[in-house]
Amino acid sequence: KLYNQIQDLRGNIRVYCRVRPFHPGKEFPSSSVAGIEDRTITVMVPSKHGKDGKKSFTFNSVFGPLATQADVFTDMQPLVRSVLDGFNVCIFAYGQTGSGKTFTMSGPKILTEEGLGVNYRALNDLFGIQEQRKDTICYEIAVQMMEIYNEQVRDLLQTGGNKKLEIRNNSQNGIAVPDANVVPVRSTADVIDLMNLGQKNRTVCSTAMNDRSSRSHSCLTVHVQGRDLTSGTVLRGCMHLVDLAGSERVDKSEVVGIGLKEAQHINKSLAALGDVIAALAQKSTHVPYRNSKLTQLLQDSLGGQAKTLMFIHIAPEPDAISESISTLKFAERVS
Ligand code: ADP
Ligand code: MG
Repeated sequence: KLYNQIQDLRGNIRVYCRVRPFHPGKEFPSSSVAGIEDRTITVMVPSKHGKDGKKSFTFNSVFGPLATQADVFTDMQPLVRSVLDGFNVCIFAYGQTGSGKTFTMSGPKILTEEGLGVNYRALNDLFGIQEQRKDTICYEIAVQMMEIYNEQVRDLLQTGGNKKLEIRNNSQNGIAVPDANVVPVRSTADVIDLMNLGQKNRTVCSTAMNDRSSRSHSCLTVHVQGRDLTSGTVLRGCMHLVDLAGSERVDKSEVVGIGLKEAQHINKSLAALGDVIAALAQKSTHVPYRNSKLTQLLQDSLGGQAKTLMFIHIAPEPDAISESISTLKFAERVS
């Protein structure tokens, strides 16, 4: 029995696109984005032989630079709520470093109420429904926060959590990394505390390693268990909110201080994610989950009845165009 009032009929894989505004005081006379109309984004395609061209891409939703955090969340609300009906959900923020992934998922560096990103809004929304349904269903909500860096999974909710964590798929309670802290949450205040702790654990390493956050994937996993108070039936769902590593091509000439291995890990894991979603989109019989830690971690939540949202981010600056086009092509391939 589905309790969700608004059914999301958009299938299992959907793609959203968001173009961030220019940075204040750093506006360019022209943008790499030629236009946004309804669900279609058109970008400039520079040509070596004189005349520049244009190319259009159509997705499930396209948000322009004026879209607010509330606009963005409203669109994905049905997807978020489906976790309460026992669906597994993955939401990925994809794009080059600086394109707005963290802004969408968490918010701006200095958080305001209206700046709150998807992570906060999603949990708030779940708390709201939990309260509304409390006479019929008892929901328990708990979160994990992990980071994947150099193909190693690290717990962000544990201080000194540097030990290598193992991934176990097909576990009964749906928890793929049982050794990472699972923290029950009841209110927005709980969530804000945890996010701050996770963020702190994340930056401990990034100062020593020069913005590591753009080169690791961070994953907030929300586990939901609902027990129907009359029948006793238990439903489980989980939602992964993933702020991916920057998708910019890192080639050998640029890896000073990063290490070639690190660059290869990022390229490999984003490619592996693209391969998995593309295989699911094409209903292929073989889905190559084993090729990266990220796809192993999310295996139980990618495919089958699970719902996936690939949320790509585009920077408007003219010099971002080639990365923007490769981001749009990535999205086109998985949709
Ligand atoms: P990423 O996580 O992809 O590297 P960020 O989210 O850190 O990028 O965004 C880069 C900068 O642009 C930050 O200062 C951020 O606050 C700002 N920014 C990103 N998206 C928006 C937006 N939609 N509106 C206003 N500022 C934004
Ligand atoms: Mg970021």
